[in-house]
Amino acid sequence: MGFSTKAIHAGQTPDPATNAIIPPIHLTTTYYQEEIGKHKGYVYSRSANPTRDILQKNLAELENGKYALAFSSGLAAIYALSTILKAGDHAIISNDVYGGTYRLFERFLCDYKIQATFVDTSNIQNIEKAIQPNTKLIHIESPTNPLLSISDIAEISKLCKSKKLLLSVDNTFMTPYFQNPLDLGADIVVHSTTKYLGGHSDLLGGVLIFNSDELYERYKFVQNSLGAILSPFDCWLLLRSVKTLAVRMERHNQNAMAIAEYLEKHPKVKKVFYPGLQSHPQYHIAKKQARGFGGMVSFEVENFELAKSILKNFKIFTLAESLGGVESLVCHPATMTHASIPKEIREKNGLTDGLIRLSVGIEDIEDLLNDIDQALK
Ligand SMILES: *Cc1c(COP(=O)(O)O)cnc(C)c1O
Repeated sequence: MGFSTKAIHAGQTPDPATNAIIPPIHLTTTYYQEEIGKHKGYVYSRSANPTRDILQKNLAELENGKYALAFSSGLAAIYALSTILKAGDHAIISNDVYGGTYRLFERFLCDYKIQATFVDTSNIQNIEKAIQPNTKLIHIESPTNPLLSISDIAEISKLCKSKKLLLSVDNTFMTPYFQNPLDLGADIVVHSTTKYLGGHSDLLGGVLIFNSDELYERYKFVQNSLGAILSPFDCWLLLRSVKTLAVRMERHNQNAMAIAEYLEKHPKVKKVFYPGLQSHPQYHIAKKQARGFGGMVSFEVENFELAKSILKNFKIFTLAESLGGVESLVCHPATMTHASIPKEIREKNGLTDGLIRLSVGIEDIEDLLNDIDQALK
């Protein structure tokens, strides 16, 4: 079955009670038990809820996984993911990772004796060198945020298998429409569904997806124990959003490609970061492991002052955090999304004060190009 067909139908049959085509929002917290222990698989909505089950089935199929578990935000999913680590364990994480993931490991989990090393995972030797006897998990983003560097998921998964390490991939930027990490050998896929899967900047959510029965059992226990589940309403909204994921991603990709090509020729732009450009250092890996390059484009101008004045001039691109919605957004990572990363570490990783990140929406490309053109003047 093709991606769009799965996105629209997977997990969703007409409601058995009414034949409603669209799954109902089951707001109930509790369920009638005909006698002790006799029920239809639902007893309390933190543990299981029919609307959430439909969503989880749908998202699992889109990632070619067996199981999915939905959480109240992307970070709630990543926190749940991290509970596979016990005191004394160690994780290796992409250095250009989502700011909240960095903060979780560097400023929170460290107090629970969980150690993390941040390395540039686009070079597998950096991972090999960082492996310690207590390493349990490798967590990567590809592409990363905001520098859009690409790591070879299949190569890293081979390394993980030979060393008996778990590999998790945050696939938020690519979405299952463009990239399926489980097919490339990853053990766990994470999404912030707040971004492209939601797609309309109106819901927060996260999901973990896997094939392994053991991982599912473990994380189902974690989901129920931590309690940070996705609400029935947000499950329903996300199910609706995912139906249009394929058409949205095609347009995000097309618009982002045109903008990246335009920026690359602009005299005021020092550098453009987009995996779809032949000039991108890992262009060939991106092409090998993904079916598209996504809607995120970053570019660098001379300094903070210039970046600041450009940001003020945008008319369609709106200055805001977050990404992945139908509307175009622009942000300044150094002072916004990545402000929690110390300046010297940021600059060492190439995230300068002149860096601007675009979340390219699905508006008309002529309008977006005109907006960038006038803002750069
Ligand atoms: C936004 C984001 C997260 C965190 O998700 P929330 O839903 O904001 O908690 C994690 N990873 C990536 C790549 C993100 O863009």
